[in-house]
Amino acid sequence: MLVSAKEMLTKAKAGKYAVGQFNINNLEWTKAILLTAEELKSPVILGVSEGAGKYMCGYTTVVGMVNGMINELGITVPVALHLDHGSYEGAKKCIEAGFSSVMFDGSHYPIEENIAKTKELVKICEEKGLSLEAEVGAIGGEEDGVIGSGEVADPAECKMIADLGVTMLAAGIGNIHGKYPENWAGLSFDTLDAIQQLTGTMPLVLHGGTGIPADMIKKAISLGVSKINVNTECQLAFAAATREYVEAGKDLSGKGFDPRKLLAPGFEAIKATVKEKMELFGSVGKA
Ligand SMILES: [Zn+2]
Repeated sequence: MLVSAKEMLTKAKAGKYAVGQFNINNLEWTKAILLTAEELKSPVILGVSEGAGKYMCGYTTVVGMVNGMINELGITVPVALHLDHGSYEGAKKCIEAGFSSVMFDGSHYPIEENIAKTKELVKICEEKGLSLEAEVGAIGGEEDGVIGSGEVADPAECKMIADLGVTMLAAGIGNIHGKYPENWAGLSFDTLDAIQQLTGTMPLVLHGGTGIPADMIKKAISLGVSKINVNTECQLAFAAATREYVEAGKDLSGKGFDPRKLLAPGFEAIKATVKEKMELFGSVGKA
């Protein structure tokens, strides 16, 4: 059964570790992430962007696939199914479809409008027992065509949004979606520290987890980050493993063209990436 992300993140914040949000794109992705979480006894958040939701034939298809897999694979660790960077309308659709958690990304709106829309969703999510992630200040890079540039949030605005009663808060601290450029300045720990001082026990979310050095991840967790989003890294691992399989000509030998064989190395590569991240984030054994 899907659960809200509230309890797992409250525990993570108190225990000074982070729960990974791993974005899913299809059946292989979902299965790899769920099996790894179960093997490592780690709570897990499955992220679905609006683009990925569309690709997977809509939110009800996603809910059906994830619920079916939790049943058939005998998954016992806490699993939250979470809309990533949702619009206001998208968040409402996911709530109707059976997601257990949503993000409303109102960071591109003026703060007043972000607050007004977030407030409405807080009410809906509270009634249904779902977790809600809000965002302040654009995070750099690109996600489904949304481009920013490593922006940094205003801690006072973070406090305003946190006080609305959201479950967790994403705030730009110099992080970027996608691959980090070579001249990247690194995370702004002063900003993160100031945000945590003002928002107290609120679990903070770090987006763009791919390519942030391990020591920065650990420092961010020590400063209140309890949820870290990983997307690009699984994509890169999957693509590299699939490329290797094809370049070695394995798809041309025997029944190597069978999708269950062709996609297996990519599947294993996602599992290895998720395992590495769960170990780094400290969520292993916390389910
Ligand atoms: Zn993000």
